Amino acid sequence: MRNGHLSHWMSRDDLDTPATVPLDRDEEVDVAIVGGGLSGLWTAWALTQADPSLSVAVFEAERLGFGASGRNGGWLSAKPVGIRDVLARQHGGRAGVLEIEQRLEESIHDVVDVLGAQNIDARHGGWMQVARSASEQNRIENYLAKSRSWGVDEGRLRLLTAAEASERVNIAGVTGALHSPDNYCVDPVKMLLALARTVQRAGVRIYTSSRVDTIEPGRLAVGAHSVRARRHVVVATEGYSSRQRGQRRRMLPFNSAMLVTDRLTDDQWEQIGWAHGDGVSGAAHRVIGAIKDHTYSFGLAMIPMMILAAVSVITLLIAAYFEGRGKTTTTRPKRFPAPSRTNRSSPTSSGQVRQQAPTDGNRLYALPGLGFV
Ligand SMILES: Cc1cc2nc3c(=O)[nH]c(=O)nc-3n(C[C@H](O)[C@H](O)[C@H](O)COP(=O)(O)OP(=O)(O)OC[C@H]3O[C@@H](n4cnc5c(N)ncnc54)[C@H](O)[C@@H]3O)c2cc1C
Repeated sequence: MRNGHLSHWMSRDDLDTPATVPLDRDEEVDVAIVGGGLSGLWTAWALTQADPSLSVAVFEAERLGFGASGRNGGWLSAKPVGIRDVLARQHGGRAGVLEIEQRLEESIHDVVDVLGAQNIDARHGGWMQVARSASEQNRIENYLAKSRSWGVDEGRLRLLTAAEASERVNIAGVTGALHSPDNYCVDPVKMLLALARTVQRAGVRIYTSSRVDTIEPGRLAVGAHSVRARRHVVVATEGYSSRQRGQRRRMLPFNSAMLVTDRLTDDQWEQIGWAHGDGVSGAAHRVIGAIKDHTYSFGLAMIPMMILAAVSVITLLIAAYFEGRGKTTTTRPKRFPAPSRTNRSSPTSSGQVRQQAPTDGNRLYALPGLGFV
């Protein structure tokens, strides 16, 4: 087994990587975006669509595809993330949850339309969540019942028998599965690079090897150079945000891993029978998937991630407690700020944009990143 490369997807020689350069002078734009992953690039694209007169530049510390956008499982998915009843308690309520789900469903097709199915190796199978024990079967049936109470009909989510599930992918011991059409399997790096080319064609400047050292409303410092953002700064550094000065506790980074198989032989492929291009996941807190014919699968152990999350949250809470005790004045911790009522949505595929710090008519935005499958 080989490990430690940037990613399997990034290690190919035939990628159509657009030409980019490091920032070598001071720059002035309307909107400066920090981070050249999917969140940063989709934001750039959406801004140019909303207002073609805007000047927009993206600053990427490494190269395109360095972050999770170049290392993921390639599910282009509208699979709802989170528990609807819990989400409905936030602002937006039930109607908000339904609306975001509808937008997600539309957006996966929009992504393919904008980038071109052939450029990103998009296959529209759907997603399938398989059960392999009585408790897993119970879990998917409960999920289905709950979804029906939210108006999710047979066309969007249906229960497959063991035989129907096996007809789509031959998985040992399967007892049943949920299937939804709302998923494409794509080549994640081809998708990112196609997006970068699209964004460049729209007039956006993408600077790579251009680490932003300081982020302030209206101003970035990139090495020896200064960037003035006349209107907005967008922070799209996702899991790396905690490394940024002043941002250390704004976001809790998680680690997850992918396994990629050798290319399967025709016989192996035949045996597995992964014919419909579904993204496949288990119902046991473990994710598995297929990306492209004959080649890849990945696994992701969710249980260690949950333990890690719990440990991290407890550590942060303890740190916050002791920090609070050491101070003579107490202020409400700003580590995980409550969503502001003045939040504004941006037309990105990655969801909502949180407004972080409005000053001097200039705003700093932070993107939560794409939803996880
Ligand atoms: C193993 C794995 C599998 C996944 N599978 C899926 C999937 O199948 N489907 C799905 O929808 N999602 C999946 N995800 C999640 C998805 O990949 C991420 O949510 C998404 O790529 C985040 O995009 P981003 O642009 O917000 O962050 P990133 O892609 O991480 O981009 C952030 C960028 O910011 C740059 N940066 C950081 N600091 C600075 C700085 N100071 N100055 C300039 N640039 C900086 C980084 O170099 C990086 O390129 C997966 C994630 C992982 C890790």
